[in-house]
Amino acid sequence: MAEKLSAVKGMNDIAPPASAHWEWLEDTLRALMRRYGYRNLRTPIVEPTALFVRGLGEVTDIVEKEMYSFEDRLNGEQLTLRPENTAGVVRAVVEASMLYDGGKRLYYMGPMFRHERPQRGRYRQFHQFGAEALGFAGPDVDAELIVLACDLWAELGLTGIELEINSLGQPAERLAHRQALIAYLEGHADQLDEDARRRLHSNPLRILDTKNPAMQDLVNAAPRLMDHLGAESLDHFNRLRALLDAHGITYRINPRLVRGMDYYNLSVFEFVTTQLGSQGTVCAGGRYDGLFEQIGGKATPAVGWALGMERILELLKEQGLLPEQPTPDAYAVVPDAASVPLVMPVLRALRQVGVSVQMHAGGAEGMGSMKSQFKKADASGARFALIFGSDELQQGMVAVKPLRGPRPGEAGTDLAAQALQPLADVAQWAERLRGA
Ligand code: ATP
Ligand code: MG
Repeated sequence: MAEKLSAVKGMNDIAPPASAHWEWLEDTLRALMRRYGYRNLRTPIVEPTALFVRGLGEVTDIVEKEMYSFEDRLNGEQLTLRPENTAGVVRAVVEASMLYDGGKRLYYMGPMFRHERPQRGRYRQFHQFGAEALGFAGPDVDAELIVLACDLWAELGLTGIELEINSLGQPAERLAHRQALIAYLEGHADQLDEDARRRLHSNPLRILDTKNPAMQDLVNAAPRLMDHLGAESLDHFNRLRALLDAHGITYRINPRLVRGMDYYNLSVFEFVTTQLGSQGTVCAGGRYDGLFEQIGGKATPAVGWALGMERILELLKEQGLLPEQPTPDAYAVVPDAASVPLVMPVLRALRQVGVSVQMHAGGAEGMGSMKSQFKKADASGARFALIFGSDELQQGMVAVKPLRGPRPGEAGTDLAAQALQPLADVAQWAERLRGA
């Protein structure tokens, strides 16, 4: 036998029954986005490496060490499997001049790739759902996006997700803060860990984000970006806060909240939970007014967020909120293999009018005993068995037998009531089979 092949480390197959949970989450997301007027944008998974180097910033974790980059063997192009999709969205929007007639609200979902150490809630191929509002200066759309996420948690039934917000101000304000921060950290050089020393001059803001317990006192007392914000930035932030208050949304201002990507300004936010161990950020985003220019477009305000679908599903599981597996409405029991050519077209007609029905599939020797077929019917979770006995078929009929009681809120189904139904007119009785 040939050597077995396995999936790449940190990249997972999503198979039944889990895939049904994914589909359900995706459906919920799509329906919610429709209500908020966001439309779907699908961009390629492979982008020019330069897009991320320019868009995310050279000294970010992603660009420094997490990207799957390679050279196209055939033409030498430098390419990267997208580690996130905001840069790709902006590229696509600029390329097609999508904002020629005003702002756009867009969403995407799909796989992202980062070479990280795989662990619970952290994979090398993972999936993000993202929402972006492009061409609006806010803070109303900033609030809209946050409210939208809160609605998603409510709709999914999730609890215990907390909102943290901060303002990163504008580049000039960040520069002034950066200088103050570097001076402060240099004054405490003996307390810096190796990572902090490395970042001191390249990306000191990220030092504030450190998880090292030994450095918490140091970063807690560091100069705060918030204290360097000018009137306009503060006003933007305060108006966002007022809008969140108007919705009754509670949040915590976290002055140390900085984001992994360089492109953020003004509003930044994260939704976090304590129920997923150390991978507790389920959704993160902010305003990125500088990104369009950075990748060759004209200056355009924009804001967005991305959520980690694996983490949301994990949290749903943790809270017992995952839906039951979908079951067929009916299972076709076929005692005699010779009847299959008669049976299959009937099942097709049922499916065409919206009934989900599974046929018992036999082996080459036949269909198996009635007993084993009923066992399968029961295991399928179907609410009805359709019994295609030879005698009934000869009369142009099929026996419909309930296997389960009524769904909640449904009129009673008499479990004993087996009824003969005409094959010639499935529409007449299909309604009774069809699930809600
Ligand atoms: P983290 O601090 O956990 O590494 P991040 O700041 O790198 O997150 P973003 O780039 O903001 O994350 O991505 C948005 C969301 O995507 C995260 O909040 C998280 O839910 C999810 N996410 C990011 N990286 C991964 C990963 N490797 N595996 C699974 N989900 C991820
Ligand atoms: Mg990360």
